[in-house]
Amino acid sequence: MVDPTSDIGEDVDEADAPDCAVCGERIVELPTHRVIATVEDGQIEHTHFCSDDCRASYLE
Ligand SMILES: [Zn+2]
Repeated sequence: MVDPTSDIGEDVDEADAPDCAVCGERIVELPTHRVIATVEDGQIEHTHFCSDDCRASYLE
């Protein structure tokens, strides 16, 4: 019997969520989520940050 309280969609989203490249925080629907796109060997790489502060730290 399926548990009606479990939400598989949310579980999948959280597992797929990126981590902040600076502090390692799991980024799940954060309004302050920031992404930098860079090109490495012709592939676009996305680096995720939980906030502008972490992005600024990374870029320093
Ligand atoms: Zn962070």
